[in-house]
Amino acid sequence: MPELPEVEVTRRALAPYLEGLSLRAVHVRQRRLRWPVPAGLTGLLAGQPLLQLQRRGKYLLWQFAPGTLISHLGMSGSWRLHLHQPPPPGKHDHVDLEFAAHDGVRVARLTDPRRFGALLWHPRQRGAVERHALLAALGVEPFDPRFDAAYLQARLRDRRAPIKHVLLAGDVVVGVGNIYASECLFRAGIDPRTPAHRLGPQRCARLVAALRAVLAEAIEAGGSTLRDFIGADGGAGYFMLKAQVYGRAGWPCCVCGARIRRIVQGQRATYFCPRCQR
Ligand SMILES: [Zn+2]
Repeated sequence: MPELPEVEVTRRALAPYLEGLSLRAVHVRQRRLRWPVPAGLTGLLAGQPLLQLQRRGKYLLWQFAPGTLISHLGMSGSWRLHLHQPPPPGKHDHVDLEFAAHDGVRVARLTDPRRFGALLWHPRQRGAVERHALLAALGVEPFDPRFDAAYLQARLRDRRAPIKHVLLAGDVVVGVGNIYASECLFRAGIDPRTPAHRLGPQRCARLVAALRAVLAEAIEAGGSTLRDFIGADGGAGYFMLKAQVYGRAGWPCCVCGARIRRIVQGQRATYFCPRCQR
């Protein structure tokens, strides 16, 4: 499942090729994604340059003067970039964003076999896209300077749920999927079952640093896959950092040698070292 690092790597792969180019047409072959893809996007956007391709949480924000296209990859989605006329669309190639380039066309193609992804339109008249219902409740970005130990501790003060649950909820900080939650709690030396409000300034500081480090490593690992985003073939192009605890139940901890444990929290697997994480 694409997580924040995959979305960020997608953004970095596409932005240099598409920003500044004018959209020529939006070809929608399947409207029934998680929510219906709005009709009439070509009419709204033809001739409009893509001002910026941004990311907020796991949403890509395609900024045009009349408004913003908001896209999400769902469970199985991916964007591929074609620098020339793309091959005929496959069964799961639901949307093409066709841009005019000096040497022809460039096409960003959304492929999504399970169709849990989304492509939505937020017109400028409705105000800043950050106020869109899907974005308004999102927590701070992990690389935002406002995300620090003091912020984290303040936001955890009245949360009695286990810290892993709070991280996954995404309303305190975005970008912590299930794998990254286990990994960053391991690096921070925090037991995933700890009630969130018990984390003091030191553990909050370690968690902020660990989370940034884990996500940065994942994005960097994805950097080596950037060229996979261009062209017709290749898999979905997902990648993962080398997990130290996730999926390693029964294996020795790389720090202390104790056996990694697997538990289920909120119906999701959590992996941790019972000796290193307190
Ligand atoms: Zn250990």
